[in-house]
Amino acid sequence: MAQATDSLQKIVAHCKEYGFIFPSSEIYDNLGAVYDYGPFGVELKNAIKEYWWKSMVQLHENIVGIDASIFMHPTTWKASGHVDSFSDPLIDNKDSKKRYRADVLLEEKIDKFKEKGQKELEKKGIDKNATEEDKAKASRDYAKGVELEKAYTEAAQASDFARYKALIEEYEIVCEISGTKNWTDVRQFNLMFGTQLGSVAEESNTIYLRPETAQGIFVNFLNVQKSARLKIPFGIAQIGKAFRNEIVARQFIFRMREFEQMEMQFFIKPGTQKEWFAKWKETRLNWHLALGTNPESLRFHVHEKLAHYADAAEDIQFRFPIGFKELEGIHSRTDFDLGNHQQYSGKKMQYFDSEINENYVPYVVETSIGLDRMFLRVMSENLKEETLENGETRTVLSLPPALAPIKVAILPLTKKDGLPEKAREIEAKLRFVGRTFYEEKDTIGKRYRRMDAIGTPYCITIDHQTLTDNTVTLRDRDTMQQERISIDNLEQFIADKVNMNTLLRKLV
Ligand code: ATP
Repeated sequence: MAQATDSLQKIVAHCKEYGFIFPSSEIYDNLGAVYDYGPFGVELKNAIKEYWWKSMVQLHENIVGIDASIFMHPTTWKASGHVDSFSDPLIDNKDSKKRYRADVLLEEKIDKFKEKGQKELEKKGIDKNATEEDKAKASRDYAKGVELEKAYTEAAQASDFARYKALIEEYEIVCEISGTKNWTDVRQFNLMFGTQLGSVAEESNTIYLRPETAQGIFVNFLNVQKSARLKIPFGIAQIGKAFRNEIVARQFIFRMREFEQMEMQFFIKPGTQKEWFAKWKETRLNWHLALGTNPESLRFHVHEKLAHYADAAEDIQFRFPIGFKELEGIHSRTDFDLGNHQQYSGKKMQYFDSEINENYVPYVVETSIGLDRMFLRVMSENLKEETLENGETRTVLSLPPALAPIKVAILPLTKKDGLPEKAREIEAKLRFVGRTFYEEKDTIGKRYRRMDAIGTPYCITIDHQTLTDNTVTLRDRDTMQQERISIDNLEQFIADKVNMNTLLRKLV
């Protein structure tokens, strides 16, 4: 039975060994929470981007793309609220000097209480869909989780950070290094990276590396709407880098300081946000499920504490090896952003709706997913250790073929007798189907294993029979079954299986 890996460490090690992801500047002992994608990583990342981009832009005639700059006018971030409120509450342990996010410490404690309580409830045979109240009555730990959650939510809504510290002390949260409760006060820490624009220091201006890609879409809203002749409802999609000076960044590519986002802002008539919010929740969940994911690994999480711009927000959470965590956010952002840009810039950010003969500032529902987090999700659910019938184990990355970095490997059985020449001939044709990999070193078994580990869905072996009857052996990564197939049918067979449309067709 193939088992998805439950350890982040195994994923990190696999990503490094097989050329998916390396720590940044490794020869200088790494730069914290910054990573580089290697030869197979970049291919997989590009394939995820393609899946997202095509599902948004190609499959929706009312969604167009842009590619805005990372640097933006500094007033953008005043208007968006990031200068004043894009911060996290940080707390230090005075003994270990280790820094934590106070909100994360509290959320983790709530989860721990509830998980412990849940086990107790299972033993007592209480249904997992019972109300929070009933669960709290039946389990002391669950009750503590609910109680802390309530207190934390109230403190969060009031931005009462002294209360955060009081709760951390009251619920006896300790530092994982020192094991003590010797905490500093909670301070607010702005997550934006600032830098200087302009060559002469006195004339320079502080500008920021964008902490989200969305603002590049908002400030271009009218340029795009007019030039692409769009009518509401319509969307603008973008993939690009974002930067956050995260306080705690020790979970591999789950939380990075430089990362990529895939965001889509959908502009709608005010008052229709509820139905569009529901629609985009469904559309995005389907996008995730089309990858063949176990539905139990995905769930929605409703935000209790709304960001400064939102009137509704839910996350799609995925069961990572580190637990259920946010993978994507779906936010109803009202007219907050466009309204503020209108106010700060003095330029109208209105849309003329010819159906009702009225001007208004549109409302926005956004979907925002981290590309790197999506990469981690794909790795976590597809990297498997499998025990074979003969007792051996194999590591296999069972990626959907459309996402696989290498689509097909071409392996001559031996290095002589004209087999390499024939294999090269085949490889040259298959290049047009997708990225190929040619290898003649090592036993065929070893070569298969290496291809399994990087997720190559098909391996083709060229043997002596190939020279006489024009057939090759085609090996399927997942079943390990081999069949003989005519070279004439090879290109079409593989093209059909690895095509991005195999995923996109599931969405319509
Ligand atoms: P979190 O609560 O995990 O910090 P967030 O709510 O601040 O995330 P958003 O601002 O909603 O995240 O960003 C949208 C998406 O961008 C997230 O769902 C996540 O996939 C991704 N993302 C955000 N911060 C990071 C990061 N530091 N590293 C990698 N991906 C990130």
